[in-house]
Amino acid sequence: MAENRNIIDGVDEETILEHPNIKMHRRGVVDDEVKSLRRDTQMVRAAFHNETWTTDPLGRSVLNVPVYHNSTVTFKSVASLDYSMSDIAFTGMLYGIHGNPTSFALEEAFAIIEGGYSAVATSSGLASNNAALMAFVEAGDHILMTDGAYYPTKLFSKRILKKFCVEVTYYPPDISAREFAKLIQANTKAVYVETPTSNSFVLSDVAMIVQSAHEAGAVVVCDNSWGGSIFKPHDLGCDVVTNAASKLIGGHSDLILGLISAKDEQTYRKVKEMVTDLGCPPGPDDCYNALRGLRTLGIRMKHQAESALRIAEWLESRTEVARVMHPALKSHPQNELFRRDFSGSSVLFGFQLRSFEHAAVVSMVESLKLFSLGFSWGGLNSLISITELPNWDYGAELGETLRLSIGLEDPLDLMEDLDKGFQILCSHSTVAS
Ligand SMILES: *Cc1c(COP(=O)(O)O)cnc(C)c1O
Repeated sequence: MAENRNIIDGVDEETILEHPNIKMHRRGVVDDEVKSLRRDTQMVRAAFHNETWTTDPLGRSVLNVPVYHNSTVTFKSVASLDYSMSDIAFTGMLYGIHGNPTSFALEEAFAIIEGGYSAVATSSGLASNNAALMAFVEAGDHILMTDGAYYPTKLFSKRILKKFCVEVTYYPPDISAREFAKLIQANTKAVYVETPTSNSFVLSDVAMIVQSAHEAGAVVVCDNSWGGSIFKPHDLGCDVVTNAASKLIGGHSDLILGLISAKDEQTYRKVKEMVTDLGCPPGPDDCYNALRGLRTLGIRMKHQAESALRIAEWLESRTEVARVMHPALKSHPQNELFRRDFSGSSVLFGFQLRSFEHAAVVSMVESLKLFSLGFSWGGLNSLISITELPNWDYGAELGETLRLSIGLEDPLDLMEDLDKGFQILCSHSTVAS
């Protein structure tokens, strides 16, 4: 009824709610027009509210959201300040740390492509994982975490969560429903899943994990950095989806940023409050560049993933290679599950060499001209790293594991580069026994 409505500075609350910065938090991403579009179109169209920020009296507007640099937000009146403080996770701008139109646009776009209610940006992918977990546990609670979790998130659970008396059990990523159910405790409040796992590319049955977790009243947090745009964890019931936007979304190896999408209002409130409490939102330039990267993610992902699969198949034919770990390969033991859950493929995979001396592997890696030695995968430039497979039975004839992130170069050039690297590998030494 009209008399129950909130009026702030003479503005009806319904009108305030129509502003995109407030609407997406209070009512979720309600842009049905964009929601009904296909994913590539969503990436290009999501969160365009340029008219709201930059329209001049002639109706002219810049196309992209401006980069707003702010700590301070100013208020016309104490009433508007009070409104902003009344429910910080939902009432839009208040102070730099609570976000501005640049971060809100990125958050809205991410929530749209993940199919979430709303989203929160953080200062790194690591902060996204860790804040998402902290949002749902307190002292005495228990978390089930995939054994193949992004290693710094594992370290966080071993150092920080332990310090606050949160118990963590690590489960094998390809665990069966029966075994998984056995690990659930009365105090299990959150399950962390990452599929495929960072270095070994083992998949988890997310639908099974969600069912088991929800029966026990635990939330499921899924790190979707590898599969963002080709895998939709919310559709399988995951409550929270995180993404290291430093990788594929940023796409140019020039920013550090994380994103958290929440499936509903209550879940969004918890993660938003945790990110605010921890004080870890990103800066506006990184938000802008992440949104700019997100716009081209669809086409980059398709192109780079196709090259990656082609190179993975070629590697399978090499005598120097013991096996290739890429879930889109028919040889991957969980390829069927992969085809069930993923609508495309990604840019990062691993392969294991036969047994060569470490020095030979180092010579090979250092000889490459088109693969830089480095970690933050998902960019335009191909990368290589020497990785370790946790809890993996190597077997006597197997050697070291290399991880490739395939960029936008021509795959033929990349294969020629690797071919020369293999020649160096083989010439360097005899096969170690
Ligand atoms: C890199 C990465 C992260 C962390 O992202 P940063 O932005 O570098 O902190 C989290 N999860 C996965 C799967 C990653 O590869």
